[in-house]
Amino acid sequence: MYFDVLIVGAGLAGSVSARDLAEKGKKVLVIEQHKHIGGHCHDYKNNAGITVHTYGPHIFHTIHKEVWDYVNRFTEFRYFQHRVLSYANGQLIPFPINRDTINKVYGTSISTNDVNDFLAKEVKRSKFNNPPRNFRDAVVSQVGETLYEMFFKNYTIKQWERDPEELSAEVARRIPVRENRDDRYFSDQYQGIPIPGYTAMVEQILNHENISLMLGADYFKIKDDFKAGLTIYTGELDRFFNYKYGKLEYRSLDLVFKTIDKEWYQEVSVVNYPNDYDWTRITEYKHLSGEESPKTTISFEYPKATGEPFYVVMTKENMEAREKYMKEVETLEQKKSHIFIGRLAEYKYYNMDQVIKSTLEKIRPVK
Ligand code: UDP
Repeated sequence: MYFDVLIVGAGLAGSVSARDLAEKGKKVLVIEQHKHIGGHCHDYKNNAGITVHTYGPHIFHTIHKEVWDYVNRFTEFRYFQHRVLSYANGQLIPFPINRDTINKVYGTSISTNDVNDFLAKEVKRSKFNNPPRNFRDAVVSQVGETLYEMFFKNYTIKQWERDPEELSAEVARRIPVRENRDDRYFSDQYQGIPIPGYTAMVEQILNHENISLMLGADYFKIKDDFKAGLTIYTGELDRFFNYKYGKLEYRSLDLVFKTIDKEWYQEVSVVNYPNDYDWTRITEYKHLSGEESPKTTISFEYPKATGEPFYVVMTKENMEAREKYMKEVETLEQKKSHIFIGRLAEYKYYNMDQVIKSTLEKIRPVK
């Protein structure tokens, strides 16, 4: 069977690609191996009537107006500013590090103007490579060893099962350090949660007469049944090339959901547990959705090496193997037969908005 475009994966990269091409009049087939759309931002209402995120908490945030305008074509967003507390030394402390974090940890009452000097002194008496070479260096060079050990070191070991010195400094760039009292996780201009949910948003993106959808189908098993002018691939990069340069590592999570017979469990949507317990964080979904209920649902995240691939692991070895695969990708993209997009296909630690932005940039020029 012939389609103008074959798209592998109905997550954000696949769906946004499908929509743009369908609007240009292309006949598009989207093949998705799961029995649902939305990729890893899939959500659903559980038995208690609370919307939970199947693969862990997703908070939409972007600095890019064009991305915000794009998603607002398909859903309405609820005003939401994500706040996280970190459970350290038996206390719940604002995270990422801001002025209040410092005052709570050190029992001080320094002002915003003094935060930089305070941190500079902490950094001065710490040991690290300058310029920073890895995750540990990147954090210690900003906040010093004490705060690194309290909030980052063990969380990172739990999450990645790696020495933080083996991980790229880029991972640390996800987490800001603030002098002021802004305790939001993200300071992006546009933030929110889709009111009907992420699955409903993606459903709207895919809702076009030129888009056909096949769920529960493994592209690699059925690809010979279809012909297409262009294939857009959003699955795992190494799998596409039959692991010719070796396996890339991915990290996964076991999400354990619990519905509790009380109205609220914790003060904020997410509490991180850097040093205690085996989980990294607990999410309470009603904070995200704004739903009202006498019950509440929470999830515990237990990182693991196998299973559904959620995260790319930014070590030197993986990034070197990625480069080799990406050279092959470049060749295919130059031939205009394939385009690779998204977290798995580009082996990149993208946020949702970054996936949408790069998808639009790659797909809009396609005629
Ligand atoms: N991190 C940390 N302590 C925290 C939160 C994050 O050390 O309390 C580190 C950890 O290495 C984590 C990375 O920062 O994997 C990125 O965190 P983010 O919250 O962006 O992770 P995601 O939401 O992608 O799971």
